[in-house]
Amino acid sequence: MNTSPHRAPAYVGRFAPSPTGPLHFGSLLAAFGSWLLARHAGGKWLIRIEDVDATREVPGAATLQIETLKAFGLEPGAPIVKQSTRGDLYQSALDALLQSGDAFVCHCSRGDLAASNGVHRHCVAAQPRPDPAIRLRVPDGCMIGFVDGLQGRFGQDIAHEVGDFVLKRADGLWAYQLAVVVDDAQQGISDVVRGADLLDSTPRQILLQRALGLPTPRYSHLPLVLDGNGHKLSKSQAALPIDADEPLPPLRAAWHALGQAPHELAGANNVDALLARATARFDPARLPRVPALQCTTSP
Ligand code: GLU
Repeated sequence: MNTSPHRAPAYVGRFAPSPTGPLHFGSLLAAFGSWLLARHAGGKWLIRIEDVDATREVPGAATLQIETLKAFGLEPGAPIVKQSTRGDLYQSALDALLQSGDAFVCHCSRGDLAASNGVHRHCVAAQPRPDPAIRLRVPDGCMIGFVDGLQGRFGQDIAHEVGDFVLKRADGLWAYQLAVVVDDAQQGISDVVRGADLLDSTPRQILLQRALGLPTPRYSHLPLVLDGNGHKLSKSQAALPIDADEPLPPLRAAWHALGQAPHELAGANNVDALLARATARFDPARLPRVPALQCTTSP
């Protein structure tokens, strides 16, 4: 019998940018927020480059993102992994799901699903296609709820709102939902801290974790940053890249947007001093518990 005391798994957090362009203020908020929470818990913080979708990748963006994070002093506690090198892991998970009957080959095209607003409940393909997708079978009435560390209780009727979702796309690319679940488990991530735009992906990820017999991490979704017109920063003109040569002003602005008192960082005039001060003074209870923050001035 194992008599060792039960220990909660060590805190492992991560920041997982997609290399679709330079980091902007919204990405800095997720990177700095997840880094601060990991430091506060005495845990580890990792960087993962989510480059499964080659069609959206901007050449050089991953390197630029990594260099920018370095200039901001946000260095990972283990070598950076890239999803593009991890196809074997995704394939093993997919094979297990196909074998258990939780996943199925689907010939439906976008056009076939237009009548059901893109929600797949059963195959309606007009004809077989040479490049079928693979989907997760979502049972009727499948409701998944969880308690988010910042946003509170969140539930979703996945069958009704999302339907059977894609794990491997018709173009052969791995879907984000499968890759993120496999990687979070394989890297031992205990705490996922990311932007609230991914809140409604989380029930799908929990369902996949259950189908694969993987643990579910804790989730905290940070508010999205909106510009003065209420548009998400990453999609608006105001999504200015953060400048790796001037890390202090955006770090201070991110600290403030994370609900922390600006005066706590007063006098810190280089990145190391600022991060040391931030680590000592960070108070998770002050993190904003709202889905979005309006930013009227440029960060
Ligand atoms: N790669 C995703 C993005 O850049 C984030 C995924 C995640 O944190 O789970 O939006």
